Amino acid sequence: MNYRHIYHAGNFADVIKHIVLMRVLDYLKQKDKAFFVLDTHAGIGIYDLDADQARRTAEADDGIARVMAHADTAPEAVRAYVDLVRGFNRGDEWRTYPGSPAITHSLIRDQDRMVVNELHPDDVVTLEHHMGRDDRVRVEHMDAYQVIKALLPPPERRGMVLVDPPFEVTDEFARMTKALIDAHKRWATGVYAFWYPIKDPRVIARWHNDLADTGIPKIMAVDFMIRPASDVTRLNGSGLVLVNAPWTLESELNTILPWLVSTLTKGAGSFTITHLTGE
Ligand code: SAM
Repeated sequence: MNYRHIYHAGNFADVIKHIVLMRVLDYLKQKDKAFFVLDTHAGIGIYDLDADQARRTAEADDGIARVMAHADTAPEAVRAYVDLVRGFNRGDEWRTYPGSPAITHSLIRDQDRMVVNELHPDDVVTLEHHMGRDDRVRVEHMDAYQVIKALLPPPERRGMVLVDPPFEVTDEFARMTKALIDAHKRWATGVYAFWYPIKDPRVIARWHNDLADTGIPKIMAVDFMIRPASDVTRLNGSGLVLVNAPWTLESELNTILPWLVSTLTKGAGSFTITHLTGE
């Protein structure tokens, strides 16, 4: 396990993933009934963007830093994300970046519950420290695909699962397909979000076909390119496959993503929203 998210915290991919996470949680909060969130690859929860590792890659400079710099022109949903990030910082300084566990923790209500899971032995300790003591939060130290089997379906029968792997293994796409099939058998009505890097779009197209072949309904893919994929060895974009996405999400993304294309990529990027399967 060599991957450490501190090198990438607050980059363009985090920005999109975390805005989508917030939109889904916001939707779930429209009903009083409790919901459950499972974050299968949680990371350490909160990131210091001044840390050596973060500065070495400076990926946040092309991600959250650009969003912050142009926040005054941002759509409402992006402003809510900016406000949430600002809440982890003091005044105009913003060197702390919340990961998915901290974002979810900020948004759940008294009746809601979350499980954050992390396999790295050092990172799970840091994660525990960052999450603090809260009866609504449980930290697990398991393989992500085992935690899905162990915890689904949740008793609440409402909620979401975020699957955000580091792609250190060559068969991660196949593992995610299998995880979706398993998870969907256990809990067909949960909202699922699977994150993936986009290097070669042909690889992504094949995976999308595999997902469509599962026959699982309501699968939507949101792909965001920071540049055309002329060199398929580079990280050219990132995507999220959403299952049972809130019906409001697509129209929200049609406002949010054009703004992110111009802010994060100066217009060089693009996005697509594709329905891989229907209702
Ligand atoms: N979701 C986090 C966020 O948005 O802030 C970032 C997670 S990072 C992309 C992926 C994390 O998965 C790393 O912290 C890594 O240690 C962890 N990881 C890698 N393999 C895992 C596995 N099989 N099960 C659980 N966690 C794993």
